[in-house]
Amino acid sequence: MQILHTVSQLRHWSRQHRAAAQTIGLVPTMGALHAGHASLIRAARVSCAQVAVSIFVNPTQFGPHEDYARYPRSFTADSALAQSEGADVIFAPTVEELYPSNASTFVEGESLTHRLDGASRPTHFRGVATVVAKLLIAAEPDRAFFGQKDAAQVSVLRRMVLDLRFATEIVVCPIVREPDGLALSSRNLYLTPSERAQALTLSRAIRQAESLVSTGERRSAALIESARQILAAANSAFPSAPKIRIDYITVVDWSTLSPVEVVAPGTLFAIAVYIGPTRLIDNTILA
Ligand code: AMP
Repeated sequence: MQILHTVSQLRHWSRQHRAAAQTIGLVPTMGALHAGHASLIRAARVSCAQVAVSIFVNPTQFGPHEDYARYPRSFTADSALAQSEGADVIFAPTVEELYPSNASTFVEGESLTHRLDGASRPTHFRGVATVVAKLLIAAEPDRAFFGQKDAAQVSVLRRMVLDLRFATEIVVCPIVREPDGLALSSRNLYLTPSERAQALTLSRAIRQAESLVSTGERRSAALIESARQILAAANSAFPSAPKIRIDYITVVDWSTLSPVEVVAPGTLFAIAVYIGPTRLIDNTILA
């Protein structure tokens, strides 16, 4: 496995393989790799001849008071995991490499980027779209792999790829969970044991929405209210436990991120909460 640090190295690598008619897969990550990331690398491995994993903690997708400085960085363990999952290349640029000083060109979507996570993190999706555009331009992958875990991110990136006419196919992989249901996230590392116990409420609320839909409930308001009650009950059942603070509970069309009142197959049900200082998200695509 090669480790590349510059855009020109990545471009050269990609062009070499494209010239040999090999398909290129790209798995963008911010490192602190876990089994969720591993599932993306495996999916890329199965469908592409060459697989690049990018590891870059992207400063522009963090707000001024967010966790950029303390975001977990574990390059040695990450490269071991990427290699064991069969990656051919790790692309690990410096901030200066992707954002030359005074960089002033950004990819800013319109309405989509201010919904869901974009409502409370107003510059987040601008940062995500910008860095992914840079990666797609450098690697020219046939396919890029993303997790459903970040469902709104998928909508923003699909829109970007369509609008800017990138030739890359966006492939979405299912959410990987701990055996008890907690969606894997690099930010789970921040949780204390009692916060982690509270965090489980999130996947419980997601499962409850799925089960209501399976018994015929179609009203978004009823699903949202039921999730709100589950989260509120967790707060009042354990008064000394860290409080769950709801950012959003929402039912939206997955491609436009616009709220829907009645669930149709493919509707996105998504939750974001803060537990202590840690922001966690989870979602499901309703049947
Ligand atoms: P991150 O390193 O958090 O930026 O995530 C990199 C990619 O891994 C994104 O496409 C995420 O959606 C995906 N990912 C993160 N957690 C999971 C998970 N639990 N299951 C599946 N994909 C995930």
